[in-house]
Amino acid sequence: MPLSFHPRLINGPFDDPGLYVPFSFEKRALVFDLGDPGGLSNRDLLKISHAFVTHAHMDHFIGFDALLRLFLGREKILHLFGPEGFLQHVEGKLSGYVWNLVENYYNRFVLQITEVRSDCCLIKKYSCEKRFHNELPAEKIDFNGTLLQEPALTVSAVVLDHQIPCLGLALQERFHVNIKKVALASLGLEVGPWLRDFKTALFEERPADSEFIVASGSNQADARVFLLGELTEQIAAITPGQKIVYITDVVFHDANAEKIIKIAEDADHLFIEAAFLEAERDMAARKYHLTARQAGELAGRAGARQFSLFHFSPRYESDMQAMWQEAYGAYQMFLHRQ
Ligand SMILES: [Zn+2]
Ligand SMILES: [Zn+2]
Repeated sequence: MPLSFHPRLINGPFDDPGLYVPFSFEKRALVFDLGDPGGLSNRDLLKISHAFVTHAHMDHFIGFDALLRLFLGREKILHLFGPEGFLQHVEGKLSGYVWNLVENYYNRFVLQITEVRSDCCLIKKYSCEKRFHNELPAEKIDFNGTLLQEPALTVSAVVLDHQIPCLGLALQERFHVNIKKVALASLGLEVGPWLRDFKTALFEERPADSEFIVASGSNQADARVFLLGELTEQIAAITPGQKIVYITDVVFHDANAEKIIKIAEDADHLFIEAAFLEAERDMAARKYHLTARQAGELAGRAGARQFSLFHFSPRYESDMQAMWQEAYGAYQMFLHRQ
């Protein structure tokens, strides 16, 4: 089944964390954490519409500068989300540069920053044209767990404990539209951009008896009109949407575990940090990180179908296999208990 999202860790397990989530058939991507973007090309970075930063430790936020550098002078709005204190961290970054020549840029670049607190979100916009100055107070909205809601997807967050607030993040596709290629061919329709409009019509829940125009060939005169419901029945199969969860930099205690298991429940793919082996459980607790065993246990208890580890301490460079083995053993043990 072709997937809508193709998540991949940006760097290796010993390098800066970050998950890049490009969309199929769209020049768009989401990113979870902005560490060293070394594993991404400029082309990849330019697809990013929304970046979700778990917390502002350097290994999760140093990539902000690279992203800003690339987006300057482009007609874009870049949406950034981060935990308590995030507006101040972004403003600190922006005030570290001189912006006296930005009015020469023809295009307007805007940063929209959302600071996520346990009960509300604070939103501010910073425009390149105004040298990223914004003295106005932030707009305050309620936070009910959802950061981004679009017809096709939702990104939700939970505030976790890393001694400081740290966001756990989940991307949920509402449902998945599989196109039956054989059925397309038998109707004489070609694959093309119209399929994106077709999926949008389904996500927007347009009535089944509404007309849907298919311009599948290069000639507009060949456009054909279908009833949306009938076309859907013939060419599409609807299956549950993909769920991708990203958890990093968290201590293992009951309150965190409960929140992580809830947000990661039935994930198709859980990306979860594991900094240490269980033998160094005390060190992991002191540094507010997970052990591999704890990561595997959380993946199992959440019922994740697949999980990936990252954020390994450099001390395991010669023994990476032990991290995987320990996590996988715990995953199997806890998965079977459900
Ligand atoms: Zn970290
Ligand atoms: Zn951290």
